[in-house]
Amino acid sequence: MLYKRLNALYTENEVIAEEFPFSEYFPLLQQFISNEVELGAEYLSPYRFALSFSKPPKAAIRFFLGLTDSEEILRQYYKYQCDECDAINIIKDEKALVNFKCKRCGFEDYLETSDYLSEVKLMFKIEDKLLEAVNDNLKINPLSSINTISSAVTDERGDLENVNFNTAEELIIKDGKMISKVSFERSKRIRKYRNLL
Ligand SMILES: [Zn+2]
Repeated sequence: MLYKRLNALYTENEVIAEEFPFSEYFPLLQQFISNEVELGAEYLSPYRFALSFSKPPKAAIRFFLGLTDSEEILRQYYKYQCDECDAINIIKDEKALVNFKCKRCGFEDYLETSDYLSEVKLMFKIEDKLLEAVNDNLKINPLSSINTISSAVTDERGDLENVNFNTAEELIIKDGKMISKVSFERSKRIRKYRNLL
């Protein structure tokens, strides 16, 4: 399933195809997803990807942003920890991010206050059907030895493994080329909402 979906993305997106050759990155991504799902992950960290395959972290982040160009591989979410009650909020779209309201305590925060955006992290969630397929495959063919850097993959992952909003923003465009139209549109929406405040 991953092969087909990645192939479709690569056909559409010339920038990712050029910077991250399919023949190299498909096997890496396939192995990485299997390893991480075996450990119980639903979200993937580009930092772990970089560490696993000795790639520069920024390149890995740019690759992941490129992957979100297809809704069928990775979906990007925002993560923000409430200042009031410390609840971790996973936020789907830019509007909800800009007008933050904590799902636990109802605390409201706005982009214009403090360093809000610098506290926001990006999360990359494996698309549901793809996750299901990987899980099914692991049941039939369990990984014999997990080649992993750490087994500390839970929902309470350290924030070191999550990408800072600002870091990602800087990586969407490189040498005038955007890695993902979806990311670019997200970034534009944020700027628009921000200007409205
Ligand atoms: Zn709260």
